[in-house]
Amino acid sequence: GGFLDRLKFEKGRLRAPRRVVRAVNGVSFKVKEGEVLALVGESGCGKSTVAKTIARIHNPTGGSVRIQGEEIQDLTPRQLLPVRSKMQMIFQDPYASLNPRQKVRDIVAEPLAEQTGSWSQAHEKTEALLARVGLSAEQGGRYPHQFSGGQRQRIGIARALSVNPKLIIADEPVSALDVSIQAQILNLMMDLRDEFGLAYLFISHDLSVVHHIADRVAVMYLGSIVETAPRDRIFAKPRHPYTRALLSAAPSLDPAKKPKQLELSGEVPSALNLPSGCCFHTRCPFAWERCAAERPVLQDTGGGQEVACHLLDEPQREIA
Ligand code: SF4
Ligand code: MG
Repeated sequence: GGFLDRLKFEKGRLRAPRRVVRAVNGVSFKVKEGEVLALVGESGCGKSTVAKTIARIHNPTGGSVRIQGEEIQDLTPRQLLPVRSKMQMIFQDPYASLNPRQKVRDIVAEPLAEQTGSWSQAHEKTEALLARVGLSAEQGGRYPHQFSGGQRQRIGIARALSVNPKLIIADEPVSALDVSIQAQILNLMMDLRDEFGLAYLFISHDLSVVHHIADRVAVMYLGSIVETAPRDRIFAKPRHPYTRALLSAAPSLDPAKKPKQLELSGEVPSALNLPSGCCFHTRCPFAWERCAAERPVLQDTGGGQEVACHLLDEPQREIA
């Protein structure tokens, strides 16, 4: 079995057919040009696996990853170089993701130098990139440990921007930062989106952050997308029981706008031992026999919303 099975990323479309694989199965969503798609779910649900597989930091052992029509899963590191100019990644921990022995100007120039083979050409752009994220040319001569967490995330953003990507995969980019700094970094990311026509795949467990920045939201549970919808729709009308539980339990959301409390039973099952059928059936208050026997697929429910739940076929089972 593959780590990821037939994951596709085509013209901003990522899809995987339903087949049980180890960490991620049944992932299907689009990232349109200039769009912020938030991928949400509890830790361990496979969000980072999806991110790293698209970015080819993880290599899927099977299946396919496509970006703008090009298969990238079998490309060698050298063949991947031009793909890296289309998508870049920003990481959660700006401490661990920057080389401590590299000066900031080299950190920022590196992806472009890899593309062009010319450090001097790449360095010509560095000052403008640093300025764009709010850092001085003089700061480019320093090392990562001389910066705060927020500044380091700015460095990571400048580095990602250096190759003019169309897509930035941001894995929990602000969750390690103080709340006041979070807003600054999010606002910077949104400004850059408008300026450069960037799309973001924004991975987060923080629903108030997601509400702030996302155009669309995809909810993951145990390696599957269970619901996807435009931001306002999913917050106002979540359909999947897991989405409803997640929203109703979010401490940071306005209580008046939360769905009715939905109590979940049991623990999150191990990703190595996925439940049969709907992988949420061990915790879902509405589960019945069919849920353990048959895996629900994402169905279009209108308004750009897709939900993977058998309740769509048998809504009378839902207790008001
Ligand atoms: Fe719950 Fe069944 Fe829907 Fe899964 S398919 S979310 S177990 S009602
Ligand atoms: Mg993660």
